[in-house]
Amino acid sequence: NSFAASGLRPHLLENIKKSKYMKPTPIQKYAIPIILAGRDLMGCAQTGSGKTAAFLLPMIHKILEKQDPPAREGNTAMPNVVIVSPTRELTIQIYEQAKKFSFNSVVKTVVVYGGTAIHHQRNQVNAGCHILVGTPGRLIDFLQRGHISFSAIDFFVLDEADRMLDMGFLPAIEQMLSHQTMRATGERQTLMFSATFPEEIQHLAGKFLHNYAFISV
Ligand code: AMP
Repeated sequence: NSFAASGLRPHLLENIKKSKYMKPTPIQKYAIPIILAGRDLMGCAQTGSGKTAAFLLPMIHKILEKQDPPAREGNTAMPNVVIVSPTRELTIQIYEQAKKFSFNSVVKTVVVYGGTAIHHQRNQVNAGCHILVGTPGRLIDFLQRGHISFSAIDFFVLDEADRMLDMGFLPAIEQMLSHQTMRATGERQTLMFSATFPEEIQHLAGKFLHNYAFISV
């Protein structure tokens, strides 16, 4: 029951230590090995459970393993990881944790959200990123303008899925998961987190996750 035992790369363990995390929370203990093993995951966990690190740490581990520069095609960025979250506030929190865990490494993270001018975010995205964190509307906007494509996606993460459905983001989520550039289930890993597991979330998981592991903490 330690981060070191999880097999995460030494650089990540150093950054975890700097965060003063002494040991994994339950969601981290169960989710990290599943994600490292390449499985899709449905995780039922509340904010405060440590779910953000539970998905960020194994994904950053996989990026560090490859050590490839961020992929691009012309002005189109091709992130390896896309994380969708319902609000600007949550999106920024995920972004900050991603920066913290990938500190002093090759991993580039960019955040996009609505309600602010698009050009600064577009410049950052255009410079290339491994991890892109965003709100559904702004991500769709970037996708439709051709600033991003999903053709290099290794991980697609839906955080607070129940809240996103409550906020009316189901069409945006379905549009992203069915996008022509999106890699097939089984080629990408899909991770979904939700505080509750009502029928609509079960349906979404059944439709877009592939042979998924289920964790409830
Ligand atoms: P989250 O549920 O991801 O929003 O995380 C809630 C809070 O717990 C955040 O402030 C994290 O920095 C913190 N946290 C996450 N994992 C750990 C851990 N293993 N030990 C101590 N604090 C943690």
